Amino acid sequence: MRFKIVTLFPDFFESPLKSGLLGRAIEAGIVSVDIVNIRHFSEDRYNKCDDYPYGGGAGMVLMPGPLSKALDSTVSAGARVIMTSPGGRLLDHEMVVELAKNDEVCILCGHYEGVDQRIIDRYVDYEVSIGDYVLSGGEYAALVIIDAMARRVPGFMSNAESLAEESFEDDLLEYPHYTRPSSFQGMDVPEVLLGGDHAAVSRWRHGEREEKTRKVRPDLYKRYLMRKILGE
Ligand code: SAM
Repeated sequence: MRFKIVTLFPDFFESPLKSGLLGRAIEAGIVSVDIVNIRHFSEDRYNKCDDYPYGGGAGMVLMPGPLSKALDSTVSAGARVIMTSPGGRLLDHEMVVELAKNDEVCILCGHYEGVDQRIIDRYVDYEVSIGDYVLSGGEYAALVIIDAMARRVPGFMSNAESLAEESFEDDLLEYPHYTRPSSFQGMDVPEVLLGGDHAAVSRWRHGEREEKTRKVRPDLYKRYLMRKILGE
């Protein structure tokens, strides 16, 4: 999976793209991330990429000229372009699964008040929000999107099973985890996990997933029940 990030702040990505599973996957060539600095495509000698909004109002808007040149320089034919935006569709498990079917995705990181609408109209396939709150820049959201998508690439995780049992698969959240010691500050690991009966462990975990989802995410739980009734 190839990611292209179009941003005003390339340094932002330096450490995250070297760390953890994502860093390891990049090093192993399982995913690649190219960063394109919008300022390199500025059309004036001060590297200006933003200007005042037509019609007035607070803040600055990213200009279409540098953005279109930056996008033209990096987006391959057939690649999908995502723009980070609080006004976009809320990112969820289904959307991640859908997006991860693409071999190449370019993420345009908005900044200031946002991006000139003509760029969105011409280039953007998906406007994506990572939650109902406002961030100061699209770079935070881009990292979230990349990590969520990259985890679905075969080989990203050493254990493919962990993907199948994670939260949101089957519309259920995950079961609780325990590790050693079996007793900690007066709290004991549930007996069933110590007995070695795999079927019993599996039943217990499923029950825990249902219970947690029912309590914490009634919306998901309702969907889960609907699927169960329909036998999906
Ligand atoms: N004026 C915009 C509005 O009210 O919708 C907010 C702009 S925000 C300060 C700057 C940039 O951060 C946005 O262009 C977008 O790229 C990114 N951003 C902010 N909140 C986001 C969110 N919840 N999800 C994804 N991107 C977000």
